[in-house]
Amino acid sequence: MHDAIPTVTLPGGEEVPSLGFGTWMMGEDKSAAKAEVDAVRLALDLGMTIIDTAEMYGDGGAERIVGEALKDRRENAFLVSKVLPWNASYDGTIKACHASLDRLGTDHLDLYLLHWRGEHPLDDTVAAMEELKAAGRIRAWGVSNFDVDDMEELFSVADGKNCAVNQVLYNLSRRGIEFDLLPWCQEHKIPVMAYSPIEQGRILRHPELAHVAKAYQATPAQVALAFLLERESVIPIPKTSNLRRLQENRDAVDLDISDEDWARLDAAFPPPARKVPLAML
Ligand code: NDP
Repeated sequence: MHDAIPTVTLPGGEEVPSLGFGTWMMGEDKSAAKAEVDAVRLALDLGMTIIDTAEMYGDGGAERIVGEALKDRRENAFLVSKVLPWNASYDGTIKACHASLDRLGTDHLDLYLLHWRGEHPLDDTVAAMEELKAAGRIRAWGVSNFDVDDMEELFSVADGKNCAVNQVLYNLSRRGIEFDLLPWCQEHKIPVMAYSPIEQGRILRHPELAHVAKAYQATPAQVALAFLLERESVIPIPKTSNLRRLQENRDAVDLDISDEDWARLDAAFPPPARKVPLAML
């Protein structure tokens, strides 16, 4: 028996699982397509129903993979996509959303994010997001790669406070947001979606992480995910196209790490002592 995946409450009151699924690098190689579709479907079966994609990934290819996987089960997914900053004018956002919906084979997204800040004024992007919401094309919208000053600016524009999440780089080796952005988001009840939660695999050979994992007969990836699952209103969205690793990531929810071992990991991956500008990949 596995523990149920805990939930996080979005500002609108909806509860979503605190562990999702990423799709960057999918849809780029035809020979991998079947494995990628199978992985999205298994993620749904395992309850990792937040499926995170973007128009950028594989130039629309990742959205096509997700669309294929959701063909007969759209209602099982909480579907997230993103608009590129250079498309995020008022008209551009609406057009990009419709193009994403076409590739995904659905008439609505559950969440639509501005991928990162660009040249278009936030007012215009937010107005387009609100228009898409009113038209039923998206159920909620949010941002990505926004630091505290960006969030404050967002909150100062009309309807900016309707933002539902901020998706940022966050993992054991990238803890800068713990100094200010994470507490800011928690205070304003904006969940943080943690992207690259295992640092794209780069932290998995860290000796201290491996040591702690071994003590729990777990893998380093599971401990890295448990670190994020432990935090209030944080939703890691690991990507894998491998069914065994997907199950492994799901089972991270079962881990119960002692305070002593968290302290070991804090020593190996120190939390920030001062403001660090938000890191991006
Ligand atoms: P992750 O930290 O999720 O790492 C993914 C890599 O780790 C893949 O190479 C995967 O390989 C491997 N992997 C996954 N699980 C395991 C495991 N249990 N053991 C060993 N290796 C594993 O990095 P991502 O950058 O993909 O981040 C996750 C998602 O976040 C993205 O897919 C995307 O949806 C989103 N994202 C958003 C960004 C933004 O700007 N908003 C930026 C970056 C990511 P394999 O598939 O072969 O298992």
